Amino acid sequence: MTEVQLQEIKLEPDSELRFEVESKNEKVVLEVKSGYAELFGTELVKAKPYEFHTGAKVAVFTWHGCTVELRGRTEVSYVAKETPMVVYLNVHAALEQQRVAAEQENTRGPVTMIVGPGDVGKSTLTRILLNYAVRMGRRPIFVDLDVGQGHISIPGTIGALLVERPASIEEGFSQQAPLVYHFGHKSPNENLELYNTIVSRLAEVIAERCEHNKKASTSGVIINTCGWVKGAGYKVLTHAAQAFEVDVILVLDNERLYNELKRDMPKFVKVVYLPKSGGVVERSTSQRAELRDGRIREYFYGKRTPYYPHSFDVKFSDLKIYKVGAPSLPDSCMPLGMRAEEALTKLVPVWASAALAHRILAVSFSPAADELALHSNLAGFVCVTAVDMERQTLTILSPQPRPLPNTILLLSELQYMDNH
Ligand code: ADP
Repeated sequence: MTEVQLQEIKLEPDSELRFEVESKNEKVVLEVKSGYAELFGTELVKAKPYEFHTGAKVAVFTWHGCTVELRGRTEVSYVAKETPMVVYLNVHAALEQQRVAAEQENTRGPVTMIVGPGDVGKSTLTRILLNYAVRMGRRPIFVDLDVGQGHISIPGTIGALLVERPASIEEGFSQQAPLVYHFGHKSPNENLELYNTIVSRLAEVIAERCEHNKKASTSGVIINTCGWVKGAGYKVLTHAAQAFEVDVILVLDNERLYNELKRDMPKFVKVVYLPKSGGVVERSTSQRAELRDGRIREYFYGKRTPYYPHSFDVKFSDLKIYKVGAPSLPDSCMPLGMRAEEALTKLVPVWASAALAHRILAVSFSPAADELALHSNLAGFVCVTAVDMERQTLTILSPQPRPLPNTILLLSELQYMDNH
């Protein structure tokens, strides 16, 4: 048996304890003994044990000083006195002023987009700013355009969520009624036309919803983006900025990107440069893949609260599976009046075959296999766990019991090996 390590750590005001849990099947328990502390903007409750598992990379920050206890084996754990938290708090204060003005003038609250390369703390800053807003009684909208990780749903999707309470320390933001759109790849680069189409669609739906929800509208929107910022990646960002009509762009740790955006954005868009936290941990390609896998596992099996998915067989003939994007042809070969790019957002039927094994299928609410399927919110996801060519059936892992809703299934490039 491994020995349980126990550390009591005193944190000075304006400092943070950073730790990582690396080893497999390791668990670390954190408890605040005295004073006040927060984790990425969520207040920690005194004397309540919080559990962190393999892969967790965490910072416990305190404005006024506190004592915390850490039980279990951490790979890295140290106290940092230098953090950008005061700068981030100032950003929050500036956004809050704009929300107050929006309330008084009956206009829209600030729409903020957070950009920067990979591993600079974009998702963390998004979480901090949303938490601070909701702790002030606001109801901001969280938009996640990062198809590589998929913080709202699973990777390969973009989505939005009305944030009504701070993120839970262990489970993140409550996933009630999110808006989720299918993309089906890990990088926007795989189908730029489709990516821009669904980003525009999400922006439209959010603008419509804000018209009917004054509280959300004055609270504003916070948009997390992908870490792809060069070349076509930059164009994707400027397209998103335009689609959401952003007011503020926060650029983390990249002066070139900051200068490009300052040059290219209209004058009314405030472009702000922010330092990254020294605590942000870089992740390797395999760690990213594990994180993606973890998100999908959580979708089916839950995190702290366990879910119990269903497994059942479906006949090939009862399924309507499509992928998005026909092979690109030169304009001269396209049917009259159709652009080559349009093919990239067309639904193409997929015949059931052994290649479907372990693939994720998005369940669309759409009744028809046309553009509507791309423009409709998703009902959820299923995973193909086995293909039986002889019996002509697929075995499906699904959060809902059978039957599968009689709608369109959209094939994702993402795979998940169910060995739960
Ligand atoms: P990005 O969205 O830019 O890729 P993230 O916000 O996901 O970056 O941060 C990368 C990793 O660093 C995450 O695992 C996150 O939990 C961790 N992290 C962020 N800020 C800190 C910090 N101050 N101390 C320790 N770990 C941190």
